[in-house]
Amino acid sequence: MFSLMMDLHRDGNRQGPGSDAETLRALELARIDRAGELRVADIGCGTGASTLVLARNLPRAAITAVDLFPEFLAVLAANAEREGVADRIETRAESMDALAFAEGSLDLIWSEGAIYNIGFATGVAAWGPFLRSGGVLAVSEITWLRPDPPDEIRDHWNTEYPEIATMPAKARILEDAGYDLLGYLTLPVDAWLREYYEPTEARIPAFLARNASTPEAEEIVAMERQEIDLYRRYREYVSYGFYVARKR
Ligand code: SAH
Repeated sequence: MFSLMMDLHRDGNRQGPGSDAETLRALELARIDRAGELRVADIGCGTGASTLVLARNLPRAAITAVDLFPEFLAVLAANAEREGVADRIETRAESMDALAFAEGSLDLIWSEGAIYNIGFATGVAAWGPFLRSGGVLAVSEITWLRPDPPDEIRDHWNTEYPEIATMPAKARILEDAGYDLLGYLTLPVDAWLREYYEPTEARIPAFLARNASTPEAEEIVAMERQEIDLYRRYREYVSYGFYVARKR
C-alpha cells in the first residue's frame, strides 16, 4: 500500500493542499528579514514545493528540507538543481519526531500539511527548542472553519485526526507552548482543488494502468475519491489553517 501511495503522489507538485501563493502569503505574515542569512527547516517537505518557494524568496537562506521518505527528497534535490538553488538546500531523511537540529539553531521552521503525522500539540512543543528566541514557526494544520460541522464530516475527521479543532483552540496550544501568534490565514478552495485534488485525480488513470488495477490500487483510488468528495461537499466547514508564530 505504501509504495502505491508513493507512486500516486510522487509526481504531484504537492502532496497535500497548498499553493505557492499561500506559501508566500504565510511568509509575509512571518515578518522576517528576507535578505538575512537565515537558517531554515522545512519539515515534512515532500517533493519540496514550499522549500523551493522559500529558496526563491530568501536568497541568502540555508534550508534543511526534512522528510521521512528519500523518494520525495530525490525529486526535491533534482528540482533544486534545475532551479540553481541546490547549494542552499540540504535534504535529510529523518523523522519529524526525532529531528537532529541543535538547540536554538534555526531562525525559521516551515511545515505544510505534515505536522498531523505526530500531532500539532506534540509537534509545536518538540520543535520549539530548535528555534532561537524570536525565531518563527509557520505551520499548516487541518482546522474547523466553523464550530458546527455536520455529523458526516465531523465523524470523518474525528476518526482520521481527533486533534482537529477551531483556530482559537490551535492558537491557544501555540501560546501554551511558548509562541506568540503573528498571523493566520486559511487555505482557499483553489489550494485544495486546483493545486492538489484535481492534479491527483488526473493521475489516477495512469496510476491504475501502471499498477494493473490491483485491489490495493483500487482501494487507494477509492480512498482518494472519498476524501475529495467529502472536501467538495463540506469545504465551507474545513480547511488548513496556516499558523505563523514567534517563539518567545
Ligand atoms: N509539505 C509537503 C508534503 C505534505 S504531505 C506539501 O505540502 O506538499 C506530508 C508529508 O509528511 C509527506 O511528504 C510524508 O512523507 C511526510 N511524513 C510523514 N510522516 C513523517 C515523519 N514522521 N517525519 C517526517 N516526514 C513525515
